[in-house]
Amino acid sequence: MLCVKQLKIIEVKIKSEAQKMDSYIYIDGWKANIRFSSAHIIPEYEKCGRLHGHTYAVHAKITGDPDSKGIIMDFSALKEILKKIVNDLDHKVLIPEKSIAAKIEKNKENVKINSLGKKYVIPINDCVFLPIKSTSAENLSNYIFNKLITNIKFPKNVEKIEIGVDEGFGQGARISDKL
Ligand SMILES: [Zn+2]
Repeated sequence: MLCVKQLKIIEVKIKSEAQKMDSYIYIDGWKANIRFSSAHIIPEYEKCGRLHGHTYAVHAKITGDPDSKGIIMDFSALKEILKKIVNDLDHKVLIPEKSIAAKIEKNKENVKINSLGKKYVIPINDCVFLPIKSTSAENLSNYIFNKLITNIKFPKNVEKIEIGVDEGFGQGARISDKL
């Protein structure tokens, strides 16, 4: 049984630990409507080497100390930039410009993709070119992370950013780095 003095000590300990806890804000792309539907080919895996599509959701976790108003950063500013990034990908064929496994050629009208001996010809306006080796969820997370940090000025109190890309419900990749 604890006496009053012991209870006071425990209360002080809990408060000081809370002050050291990490704070973050989180945006769930499924619920916040930061989603896109796209087609891609991943020739490194036979099944994924066929042209197919997914609905993706992008999540963001921003870690930092809340400012004097108790805020890490404005949700709406973050959502606005993320929506712009995903809108550029939406209803497009994702083309990994640095692909080694697929041979990609383009002219003014079309993109030719040679994947696992198969040839796809897609109108260039239906494609979006990404500076990555493959359009895996991991690489898409990396791409969106880089796009985000070059398009938004984070407040000084933000310490770490995590971006997640789900390829359908319940599976996806996460990437995080300190600012
Ligand atoms: Zn896929």
